[in-house]
Amino acid sequence: MDVKNLGGLTASEIFELIEPFKFTYSHALSIANSLYKKKLKAISDFPKLPLKLKDLLLTNGRPGYFPFLESVISEDKSVKYLFRTSDGRQYETVYLPDGKRHTVCVSTQSGCRMGCPFCVSGSYGFHGNLTTGEIINQVVSIPYANNITHVVFMGMGEPLDNPENVLKACEILTAEWGFALSPRNVTISTVGLLPAVKLFLSKTDCNLTLSLHSPFALERKQMVPAENKYPSADIIRILREAKLKKGRRLTVAYIMISGLNDTERHLEELIYMLKGSSIRVNLLPYHAVNDDNKISSSPEKMQYFKHNLIISGISASVRKSRGADISAACGLLAAGLKINSK
Ligand code: SF4
Repeated sequence: MDVKNLGGLTASEIFELIEPFKFTYSHALSIANSLYKKKLKAISDFPKLPLKLKDLLLTNGRPGYFPFLESVISEDKSVKYLFRTSDGRQYETVYLPDGKRHTVCVSTQSGCRMGCPFCVSGSYGFHGNLTTGEIINQVVSIPYANNITHVVFMGMGEPLDNPENVLKACEILTAEWGFALSPRNVTISTVGLLPAVKLFLSKTDCNLTLSLHSPFALERKQMVPAENKYPSADIIRILREAKLKKGRRLTVAYIMISGLNDTERHLEELIYMLKGSSIRVNLLPYHAVNDDNKISSSPEKMQYFKHNLIISGISASVRKSRGADISAACGLLAAGLKINSK
């Protein structure tokens, strides 16, 4: 057994490590419990393990959790954390308290290679995928770790461009031996990488949000370059046809930009696209990046879209913006990061 980071392993993977030494699956569950429910950062603190197993772990393993480097708090009480891996990849995590709901927004990559022009994470460039352990560490290593009720994969990176690690993180977050969150409280957001969307829908019960931003393919290509390879019409068809367990949510995110995608024509096409499905719409305000000259649609226009979607039988909400003053809002992560060379 090589020295291994245990945080980020599933119970089965932990069992594979200890089975050759004649330890049982129950021991693996106990280790998972210490790693995920108790969030213990030192193996010496893991309770209820035979001495021989503890020695084995102390010699050959470590939880692998590491602290954030900096944090900044918003006027609205959301907090942004900067993490850096030992090989210099940087990424940000946001904690969003809202009454009884405590959400952590995690990154899945350092930067992103999807190139959406309205997103700072895209212009930061791509600096690598995060491992499952590095994703889970964001939930474990923030000061509010024990309060977390919801996890959203909406930080830096395209989650489905790192599907293996993201699927495993979803398993750890929702498994009884893991964080035991309801899959209804875990959401990934994607530009719609079709093969991975299919995989995600079949392998998990977690929620999925498609970043749509325009119902017209030609216009969407300008905002979401992934449209060139994976047309949103195909993704919507798959979402429409998906057999969903009760309570599972499929949503489209629609960032509203004045004069660009908030006209009557857009509203009509959006309604046509989604009518009769169980897909919801989340309308979001736009945050200007790189001093562009675009502005968000007005609150009245956003409510107008919401109203018309609802009377057309489509569930819709306007999401309030959080953390814009600390560049923690949608599309702004990485705004303060410099390329780090270790
Ligand atoms: S919006 Fe998402 S997919 Fe697009 S560049 Fe930003 S992080 Fe990547």
